[in-house]
Amino acid sequence: MFVEIDVTGSAVALLGAKERTSRVARKYAAGQTLQVEDASHLADLAPVSLAVVCVGEQDAATRDEWARSVRQHLPGALLTFDAEQPAPASGMVFLIGAGPGKAGYMTARALEALAESDVVLIDHLAPAADIASWAPGAEIIDVGKVPGKHKVPQRDIDRLMIEKAHAGLKVARVKGGDPYVFGRGTEELYVCEREGIDVEVISGVTSSIAVPASAKVPMTLRKVGHMFTVVSGHSELADAELDHLAGFIKLGGTVSLLMGVRTLPHTVAGLLARGVEGQMPLATFENVYREGERVTFSTLAKAGTDLADIKAPAITVIGRVVDAGEPADEAAACRRDALLAQALSEGRAART
Ligand code: SAH
Repeated sequence: MFVEIDVTGSAVALLGAKERTSRVARKYAAGQTLQVEDASHLADLAPVSLAVVCVGEQDAATRDEWARSVRQHLPGALLTFDAEQPAPASGMVFLIGAGPGKAGYMTARALEALAESDVVLIDHLAPAADIASWAPGAEIIDVGKVPGKHKVPQRDIDRLMIEKAHAGLKVARVKGGDPYVFGRGTEELYVCEREGIDVEVISGVTSSIAVPASAKVPMTLRKVGHMFTVVSGHSELADAELDHLAGFIKLGGTVSLLMGVRTLPHTVAGLLARGVEGQMPLATFENVYREGERVTFSTLAKAGTDLADIKAPAITVIGRVVDAGEPADEAAACRRDALLAQALSEGRAART
């Protein structure tokens, strides 16, 4: 007999050992799943629409026992059985980029991987609120930096990831943006490879581009900017790096500066000292897609005052393309019109 049941929004109790109920949970992701390992807890459950006994076919006695308990304690629930095998012995790791922080930027592949994961190790900048519904069968471990609290050290994250994968589990390592853009993606891949653990890298939408785009700031624009680069401002930029960036910006390059709040005064002063014009537009994007979101448009010359109180996490974009962003006032609207007129003008665009 084949019966299709719509469990959307319904309470679904998954009964049996955690290794089995976790595997089954993803099938009922549309419902509110409750995993119950101990039959003595059944009486305390709120009304349940469907009870799924997750026990192997060979263990008929345990199945019958669960079925009896369901009839006794959950008389209103439909009863069904699911004999899906527990996780195979070889676990693996999905290295997932979760985008800039808005649920909709998760890729379809990332959602597929989460749905089949047994454990999720999630970072601070990833969209945590929805993880439980994307990975209904998984244990969720927050290893991210939370302001004021201790971050889990990298070696402990590595150890957890390896332990869980060696235990035969599918581990989703979820990071903000793209794992290969200042995300320690390769370091974690290497740790797994050394242990003989398979890894699938799932690219994410990097905040270095998506965050500026949230305020309509592009990275390239025909006839205005034909190259862009992503820079870490975690440590002060060296003189040689500033020399290169200054030249790059003068030639129409766009810089997306990540982790650069603390070092911004040094970066700005270094670029001005190397002859980048004070009128060069710049914009800072703080906490985009989360509480405290703020976008500030300024120029290199005015950055010292306009950006004095910005807070991490933030991205600063420097380059002429910034003027193409959402205009903050009338003067900005005029600059935008002029820039777009240049970009849309007839004639060949040199290399853009
Ligand atoms: N792998 C990530 C970047 C990690 S570095 C990616 O590809 O996006 C962390 C830095 O990213 C932060 O310090 C900040 O500069 C930037 N960032 C990430 N998400 C952000 C957001 N929603 N708003 C502002 N800055 C963000």
